[in-house]
Amino acid sequence: MKIAVRGGHNYLATGCEGLINEVVEDRKVKDSVIKHLKQLGYTVLDVTPGNMDRDSDLIYGVNKANNWGADLFISIHFNKAYNSYNGAIGTETWVYSESDNYNDEEYAKRIVDSIGALGFKNRGVKTSIDLYELKHTTMPSVIVEVCFVEATEDVALYKRLGPDVIGKVIAEAISNRKISNSNNNIEKVEYDMKNLVCYCNQVDKRAAEYLADYLQCPCIDATLPFNYVNVAENIIAVGGNATPIGFSGYTTKYIAGKDRYETLKEVLKFIGKL
Ligand SMILES: [Zn+2]
Repeated sequence: MKIAVRGGHNYLATGCEGLINEVVEDRKVKDSVIKHLKQLGYTVLDVTPGNMDRDSDLIYGVNKANNWGADLFISIHFNKAYNSYNGAIGTETWVYSESDNYNDEEYAKRIVDSIGALGFKNRGVKTSIDLYELKHTTMPSVIVEVCFVEATEDVALYKRLGPDVIGKVIAEAISNRKISNSNNNIEKVEYDMKNLVCYCNQVDKRAAEYLADYLQCPCIDATLPFNYVNVAENIIAVGGNATPIGFSGYTTKYIAGKDRYETLKEVLKFIGKL
């Protein structure tokens, strides 16, 4: 069974923000869902968008899942209803319709019940014929709203549990099986390459390219859509941030000075040429 998994929104078209930030957290939960689905033996495609505008963001993941011929589409989000909220609001999942021919409501029910079983208020399965991801996917699709970013008790519980636990119960709910704990430690991530260099600003491109030359690895513009998951063991960002949150959460090292010249100096220092 082929499952497409998407983290909602991106750093240029952000989601909701409260005590926690939706994009930051949904990426973590999404990664955990993918890791655990793979442990359960599924073929998984990450259809999370890179940095792009709000319209392209939704189209990207849905098209990728449709073109791939996924059997199930799962999109991870966090919700927000108020500016601030003292207490618990809870978790919910969404499907297009309960009366279509798809069995997505079974997945949606198991997912919301399993997140609810961790202690979140269970708001159940909801339906909408307006949500892009549900409307335009050509397979059963479920949106997971893990919890509410402004609700103090939701966020406290989420932080206590951690994203890995949430992702694990979502994967287990999808498969309707439990992952045995003995499997958890033996999984080793395999990367496509050793090093990857990226930059956000054109002025830092030359410094980034020097580093990539030295490391003999690709050098990419981080403002363009790119799937960083498991692509390289070391993902090195060079220079200034182009987005409010900066480079994708996948970078493992960050090299920058106060301007392009200082950035180049830092790169040369890093490779031992200064
Ligand atoms: Zn969202």
